[in-house]
Amino acid sequence: MSESRMDPSLAKRFRTGRACLNFAHTGETPYWVEPELVYDQASLERWLAHILGVADIQARPRDVGAAHRLRGSILQLARARAEGRSLAEDDVRTINTFAAAAPPVPEMTAAGAIASVSTSATAGLSAIARDAIDLFTGPLGHRIRVCAAEDCELLFVDSSQPGTRRWCSMQRCGNLTKLRTHRSAKAPVRDAV
Ligand SMILES: [Zn+2]
Repeated sequence: MSESRMDPSLAKRFRTGRACLNFAHTGETPYWVEPELVYDQASLERWLAHILGVADIQARPRDVGAAHRLRGSILQLARARAEGRSLAEDDVRTINTFAAAAPPVPEMTAAGAIASVSTSATAGLSAIARDAIDLFTGPLGHRIRVCAAEDCELLFVDSSQPGTRRWCSMQRCGNLTKLRTHRSAKAPVRDAV
């Protein structure tokens, strides 16, 4: 499903700009009201393929629990970074363990296009874990934020020049916040992103 045709309440979970954070957003958590998306093999296959942009993922029953484990660790590390806390060693170890598996192998056709190949969930989760390592250790590793809007708490990576972005989406959370601020007659919010 393309995100332009997706329900907005669903599409907003896949706009962090990073596969690992989009994957963290598939869960039901105490932080946001969105429901669980990954609850069986089929839903894991569907959402992992969507997030990685691959044609087909093949999951086994035990991959669902594994996906939840990896996802939980990514979420905890992302929130630790957003809140300026140190990273928990258990979560770091979990991500390193998933990343150690072989990632998806790309193939090309004789026409010079990307071939549609089937990828195991283990390889897909490795790609997610490798993206998490790349994010946490890279230049944006300290730019992970939690949306400042009420009732949101979705994650995003602030790649703005000044590093002052506050909302996961200006169109949604930024404007809603400005509207609420305006209604409550407080000082206007001036963030530009
Ligand atoms: Zn938000």
